[in-house]
Amino acid sequence: MTQAANEYASLPALSGGLHAFFFDVDGTLAAIQPQPDTVFIPETVCQQLQQLSSLCHGALALVSGRPIAQLDGLASPLIAPAAGVYGAERRDAQGETHRTTLALNVAEALQPQLQAAMDCWPGTLLEAKGMAFALHYRQAMQHEQDVLDLAEQVVKRFPALALQLGKCVVEIKPQGIDKGEATCAFMREAPFTGRIPVFVGDDLADEKGFLAVNAMQGVSVKIGQGSSQARYRLPDVEAVYAWLELLILQIKQDNVGKE
Ligand SMILES: [Mg+2]
Repeated sequence: MTQAANEYASLPALSGGLHAFFFDVDGTLAAIQPQPDTVFIPETVCQQLQQLSSLCHGALALVSGRPIAQLDGLASPLIAPAAGVYGAERRDAQGETHRTTLALNVAEALQPQLQAAMDCWPGTLLEAKGMAFALHYRQAMQHEQDVLDLAEQVVKRFPALALQLGKCVVEIKPQGIDKGEATCAFMREAPFTGRIPVFVGDDLADEKGFLAVNAMQGVSVKIGQGSSQARYRLPDVEAVYAWLELLILQIKQDNVGKE
């Protein structure tokens, strides 16, 4: 058995009828790339997500720091319930989108200030998401501390804002928005409600999701190394793909057994 097989063998058996699935995207369903806009989910994996979604009657959501429009592009043709920008925008299973926005004056004041500061640090990248700002420094690790200091100064000035640290990125987002809250919001609604949540993610932002599902006796799965509140672990994105394949097979076999 490979190491990956050993790891996912330790995950509990899951059921299409009982469980609800929450997936982070970057670093979980898609390998991290040097540039965030070159990230992709392989076509076969998009198809598997679509299959899993129908096997669990639509109780599958993407929960990401990316805006929903990008998630739809990455997961195409699947259009799933989704929490974008850590839940600042959330499209429920009925297709209705709920948005938390930054006050217009805050967003308008911040963007030129952030851009001017980041222009001084070649290789850093400011991404304005409407309801949040992502300050990327993957291509400029020597400016990590500068970027972190800048983000910290901003949230000190605007108490309605909070920081979200990630892999080579720090985000400035509305206070009270996180993946745990987004997951709980889905779990209050059909077809998620009454099911056992499964949350799969790789980064610091996913810890709030892990805590939320742990509190609901759910299944939290951390991808990769590093300390985590998650109860289970898979080594990498490839292991997630292998686990997805196995999971779909198991659920289909269960369904045949019940016929
Ligand atoms: Mg991630």
